[in-house]
This record gives sequence, C-alpha cells and structure tokens, in this order.
Amino acid sequence: NAPLSEVDPEIAEVLNLELGRQRDYLEMIASENFVPRAVLESQGSVLTNKYAEGYPGRRYYGGCEFVDIAENLAIERAKSLFGAQFANVQPHSGASANAAVLSAIAQPGDTILGLELAHGGHLTHGMKLNFSGKLYNVVSYGLDPETFRVDMDVVREKALEHKPKVIIAGWSAYPRHLDFAAFRAIADEVGATLWVDMAHFAGLVAAGLHPSPVPYAHVTSSTVHKTIGGPRSGFILTNDADIAKKINSNVFPGQQGGPLMHVIAAKATAFKLAATDEFRDRQERTIRGAQILAERLTASDAKEVGVDVLTGGTDVHLVLVDLRTSQFTGKEAEDRLHEVGITVNKNAVPFDPRPPMVTSGLRIGTPALATRGFGDEEFTEVADVIALALKPDADIPALRARVKKLTDAFPLYPGLGPSGFP
Ligand code: PLP
Repeated sequence: NAPLSEVDPEIAEVLNLELGRQRDYLEMIASENFVPRAVLESQGSVLTNKYAEGYPGRRYYGGCEFVDIAENLAIERAKSLFGAQFANVQPHSGASANAAVLSAIAQPGDTILGLELAHGGHLTHGMKLNFSGKLYNVVSYGLDPETFRVDMDVVREKALEHKPKVIIAGWSAYPRHLDFAAFRAIADEVGATLWVDMAHFAGLVAAGLHPSPVPYAHVTSSTVHKTIGGPRSGFILTNDADIAKKINSNVFPGQQGGPLMHVIAAKATAFKLAATDEFRDRQERTIRGAQILAERLTASDAKEVGVDVLTGGTDVHLVLVDLRTSQFTGKEAEDRLHEVGITVNKNAVPFDPRPPMVTSGLRIGTPALATRGFGDEEFTEVADVIALALKPDADIPALRARVKKLTDAFPLYPGLGPSGFP
C-alpha cells in the first residue's frame, strides 16, 4: 500500500508536472475540460478492480450488486438529462461509441454520408485509415466555399445521389448549429438512418443552450469529457427500442469486453452535475466567452494582420481562426500562443492550401476556462492577449505576464494534488 511517489517516483513526477502545466497555462483546446474533484475520486477508486461484462442485473460475473447501482444511476441520469428513452453508458470513448453505433445501424460495405474530415468532420465519420473508412463506403458533404456553413441543399443532393444507409450529422470543428430537423427529413426521404454525433456540443445541449438532436436522430452518440466536463468516455442515446437493443449488443459483446465501472460511476456524477444551475451558468459563460473571442478576433486591428474568424462568429464553445492571409501558419500561431502560455490546436480551414501538419487555422475553445471560473471580463482579456500575440511584433514577455495574472487569479484544483486529494 505504498503511495505512488514511493512505488514509481518517475510516474508520480509526470502527474505533478502535468498538474503544474494545467495550472500555469490557459487551456483552450476546444475538446478539453477540467473534471471536478468528485470525478477524479471515482476514477481513482476501487471500482477499477471490478469486472462487470453484461448489463445491470444481467452480468457474466458475480459481485456486481454495487457497480450495478452506479451504472443504473448513470443510465437514468443520461436519459433524464437529454430526454431520451434509452441510454448505453458503457463506451470507453467517443470512438468506441461510434464504432458500436455504426456496427448497429449499418453492414460493412454500406454507404455512409458524413461531413468531410477536412471541413470539420471526425475520424470516425469515414476517414480512410479509421475503421469507418475501411469498413464502409464513405461519401461526404463539404462546407459551402463562400459561407463555410453546411448547405442542406448540398446534403440532400448527395443523399439523393448516393442513397446512403446512414447520414451522419456532427463535427469536431464547426462553429454553428446544425439543422437536425432538416437532416431527419432528408434521412426519411432517402430511407437512411440519422446518426448525430454530439460529442462536442453535448454540454450545451444538456444546458438547453443548443438545439437537441435527440428528438430527431435515430441514434445520438457523445463523449462525456468535452463540454460536459466529465470523465474521458462515451455514451449513446436513442428513442427507438429496436435500435436500443442493437446498440446494447454492439457495445457489448460487439465492440467491448468489461466496462470501466470506475469511469461509469464518474459519468453518473458528471450527468448529475450537468443538471444543475451552476452547470448552465458555466455553459452560458462558455458560449459567451467564445463569442467575445470571435468579436475581438474580427476587430479591425486583427484583420489588419490577416487574422479572421470563419463564419464571422460562433454559436457554440469554439471559434475557428482563419489565418490564410496572416503571416503565420496554424502551426506557427499554435507555437506563438504556447509561448505566451495559451494552449490551442492548429486546425485546417476548409479548402486549406496548407498540409494538415501545418494548416492555416486555429481551433480555440472556451469550456475549460469557463470551468476554471472565467466570465466576460476574463475572456475579453484572453481575447486581447491572443489578438496581440498573433501580431508579428508581439511583446511575448508582457503577454506571458498577463496570462500569469489570470492563472493566478483563478487557481485550478486549489489545495489538491494530481489525483484529486489534498
Ligand atoms: N466524435 C467527435 C465529433 C469528436 O470530436 C471526437 C473527439 O475528438 C470523438 C467522436 C472521439 O472521441 P474519443 O477521442 O473519446 O474517442
């Protein structure tokens, strides 16, 4: 029972260094967040010891009476949070959830239609090296080259032309709402199953600040660790009893073995917290922060140095910065922001002339900083620091000092160590 610091000081040091990094930098990767201490506690708990293949009340192992309670709580809370009739909370990750969804609603060789990866889609929506691209016949819709938005007429044309078995709505990098009713109408017209992957915006949906896909989609998948701010993992919702049956058998035994009961317990807590007023307030600050960022990065002095924002703004928790006419590539801008203490990721803009490891854009998200407590004032300061950092003659030490003032004013996990304990 020796502590980690004695058993494996090298790994203990990694945990401490990572906690320090998270404290000292402004985390603006759109898919990241900070879980509450309560989630760290479950994830580091004895539930990690338990095998529980099967589902609550129908397990292949004995001794599941307590983990069953955790999984039932997670299921009931997910259903109530999103207004769905069925939930599967076992997927280990968003990608595992998506693998189970596709195997439940399509056969290998079937045609699937999703948003092009280079325009903001996800690997699991048909990228050629991913299982989705290898097993299925992939066709995609891109964004409109003028508006950089999804054009539902184009989606319909593609659907009529290719008659896909599955239509996918969802994204990893897109700053606007999707029209789920229009997607469903097209799916019905061509006899396709509509799958919505709400991994990115699920927290906004839970807070009632983003249209819900659940009434329209045949099946909805999600992660728990992005805007929801829970443990790294996935879940699947549906209102269709037949699809629910297929989802369950395609998660286990189809794609996974034993569920991660410590993570499922943490999911239950994350869903409980997501039903609170505090959570809604945090999601409001998240969206408002992204809108402030978009406003400041489309102001005239940003435009003078070639910085712009795709679609001119945002409805969600992220902005896509367009650097095609800036002096910096996406890679250089990511490095520049790292120097001032802000973590973001380079991101291809649609029709990007540069390769994926360089790119002409940035994806900047606000969920983690909203969780840290940031409101309008702090997001305005962050936006100004980013705008100044993207100028060729930026005063890096001065900007780093402004970032430090913010990180000092909003301490992360105060008084706690990297496992969530004092
Ligand atoms: N779906 C979407 C839309 C995503 O953006 C992501 C993560 O980037 C995933 C699925 C996959 O989630 P995970 O990284 O947990 O496998």
